[in-house]
Amino acid sequence: MLASKRYGMAVDTRRCVGCNACVIACKTENALPEGGFRDWIVQEVWGTFPNLSMQIRSERCNQCSDAPCVGACPTGASHVGEGGVVLVTASKCTGCKACVASCPYGARWVHPGGFVDKCTFCLHRVQRGVTTACAEVCPTRSLTFGDLSDPESPVARLLASRRHEVVKPESGTKPNVFFLV
Ligand code: SF4
Ligand code: SF4
Repeated sequence: MLASKRYGMAVDTRRCVGCNACVIACKTENALPEGGFRDWIVQEVWGTFPNLSMQIRSERCNQCSDAPCVGACPTGASHVGEGGVVLVTASKCTGCKACVASCPYGARWVHPGGFVDKCTFCLHRVQRGVTTACAEVCPTRSLTFGDLSDPESPVARLLASRRHEVVKPESGTKPNVFFLV
């Protein structure tokens, strides 16, 4: 029997140039309203001048395996879908924002339609055999989406061969988005 899929993403911080193409592609693909974003760029600088280091990350919902947002939802709108992807059923969402408060990553926001919105790993695209809009458009090929449970998948191979970390590991949510460093 085949192991069930676990979708994840590797974000190569050594390739990302912070061009925002992933952010624009997501906004277009998912017809997001003004001010609404499902992914965003974080630029972090550390060290003391002139010995400075910088990391650029394309961030989104981490599709956590232990997602507090799902447990916080009183209506069942927030749920775990195919491949472990955390989804929101807009018609069941009352916009109470309990999930927004529970997410350590600020990945959720209220859509002007009155429901909570977030990254879906472009499941509508994945189900027809194409990758996420952000990964598709990235000019430096920084984003690799795929099935983490398949050791032969490009994302699993990358994670097996490169040092990687997650954002805020102390949150204990078991993210499925990994940053190659
Ligand atoms: Fe939920 Fe936030 Fe984790 Fe996404 S990043 S699954 S919204 S807790
Ligand atoms: Fe659930 Fe929607 Fe309330 Fe969030 S805002 S907790 S998704 S009903």
